[in-house]
Amino acid sequence: MKPIRIAIDGPASSGKSTVAKIIAKDLGYTYLDTGAMYRSATYLALKNHLTESDVAAILEQMAAHPISFGRATDGSQTVFLGDEDVTLAIRQNDVTNNVSWVSALPEIREELVKQQRRIARDGAIIMDGRDIGTVVLPDAELKIFLVASVDERAERRFKENQEKGISTNLEILKKEIAERDYKDSHRKVSPLKAADDAITFDTTGVDIDGVVSFISEKAKKIIDMD
Ligand code: C5P
Repeated sequence: MKPIRIAIDGPASSGKSTVAKIIAKDLGYTYLDTGAMYRSATYLALKNHLTESDVAAILEQMAAHPISFGRATDGSQTVFLGDEDVTLAIRQNDVTNNVSWVSALPEIREELVKQQRRIARDGAIIMDGRDIGTVVLPDAELKIFLVASVDERAERRFKENQEKGISTNLEILKKEIAERDYKDSHRKVSPLKAADDAITFDTTGVDIDGVVSFISEKAKKIIDMD
């Protein structure tokens, strides 16, 4: 059995993190939510009233408050900036609606990609994001690109937010998701797109189990090959 690297990319709320977490647990792999890293950088920028023209100051804040991941008592993943638990704060609307400008800054991406590659160095990792198959791990053994209709993705995020106690309006959510997709796909550096060798899977109308078994089957085939 060889430890492999699995890249899962796709637009907002396409189910990446939900399925990646299940597959990581099943395989005993590390799961890395790269979106949480861009959200953390955005949280620092907003907290310090920084804008696009303050890249150096954002990088300084990131260096002073390193990102780390932990585990809550219920087994869910927690996100820290230095010793501050930002797990919930990085999911709030102000962060979600500002993350696209922070993630479009080349210097911020360079720093986070460096950290992501360091974490992936030993393999046995499943990473989700927008540029994992194209930029972060271009030689990942398995690359999946998940898509789903905007309506379905908005409904998923709406439910997720409700469970987290974050209040949202479904129609506004649809508009925000479509806008974030547009910005993520049209930015100059590392735009959201499927790698040439990625398998694209449309999850519209497919439940979580269906997506998990589709990816797991492909992963296990590669892992069992020598
Ligand atoms: O996955 P999530 O929706 O939490 O990602 C938040 C944002 O972080 C995305 O909309 C995108 O702007 C940025 N992102 C990115 N590259 C990644 C992961 C996330 O640019 N690998």
